[in-house]
Amino acid sequence: MILKELSEAVGVSGDEAAVRQIILQHIDEHAEDIRIDAMGNITALKRAVKPGRRPRPRVLLAAHMDEVGFMVTGIDGDGSLRFTAIGGIDDRILPALRVRVGEEGIPGVILWTPIHKNRDQATRGISSLRIDIGASSKDEVAGKVKPGDRIAFDSAYMELGSETLRGKAFDDRVGCSLLVDVLQGGPYPCDVLAAFTVQEEIGLRGAKVAAQTLKPDVAIALEGTTANDILNPTAEPDDPTVPNPTCKLGDGPVLTVMDASLIVNPRLLGFLRAVADSHSIPTQLKTSPGGGTDAGAIHRAGAGVPSAVISVPCRYIHSPAALLRRSDYAHTLALIQAVLRDLTMDVLDFDS
Ligand SMILES: [Zn+2]
Repeated sequence: MILKELSEAVGVSGDEAAVRQIILQHIDEHAEDIRIDAMGNITALKRAVKPGRRPRPRVLLAAHMDEVGFMVTGIDGDGSLRFTAIGGIDDRILPALRVRVGEEGIPGVILWTPIHKNRDQATRGISSLRIDIGASSKDEVAGKVKPGDRIAFDSAYMELGSETLRGKAFDDRVGCSLLVDVLQGGPYPCDVLAAFTVQEEIGLRGAKVAAQTLKPDVAIALEGTTANDILNPTAEPDDPTVPNPTCKLGDGPVLTVMDASLIVNPRLLGFLRAVADSHSIPTQLKTSPGGGTDAGAIHRAGAGVPSAVISVPCRYIHSPAALLRRSDYAHTLALIQAVLRDLTMDVLDFDS
């Protein structure tokens, strides 16, 4: 698992180079036909070993390298930075947020008026906020920061106890880490096509191109998804005190039934659940109609690709401090590898 390294790398959408370099180092000896396409996606092939007599599909596993963050849009006369969000970030987490600006990772903080001054001040929108990097004039900033520079959460990865991990960008560095583990593992009886994609957070852009290039028979997006379980972690999904916990930490990999971008084919979903059951891997179902994943773009590529999503439940995604459980990571990896071993073409024959 290279989650720490991946979490601490900065790869705000459209500028994923640092993440790409880490992944390339770790998959180099474990895959062939490794390419970087015009979008910046990494694609790679892990060839089937001993496929046997039953026809095996070419399986695309996709994980996105990009993370939500910000971009510099201008520099004010007092040396503070104007900025805009890249991807979905809740305005409520912005005040006093620690950030890193540009390739040099210049430390800064999103300014906020002290509570002593104005206790009643409501959270203001991003356009009225600025980033303070300790400069006092525009001249002082010139040469260090320019419009277009990406801004990331300033966040260290750490372990909370022995079972829980905390860090930024678990959406979707956890998927990237799992996909690296899959490529380093094996062998598998089917061709595994890997796509480490770009620009998912701003519209599933890289995955669309990767799917068109790779033309898989079936695809699975690997994700870190929202666990909205903290208000009452023991609540059942139908508990009215938690209207939609989506999924829970510790309950195993999350299988998407539907989201805003995709309805998973019931036959494919049924296969994933059967594989999990036969290997005694716990799973949970996600039926939240919000959000989307790379599978939303992949399933509509070419003549269509049966697609599913397997996610690690994470709390506080799109913030500097997401949480996930080691057991969920291990169960998710085990499920993906079991699926690769068990998946045959007839599972995709939706007429039979
Ligand atoms: Zn994601």
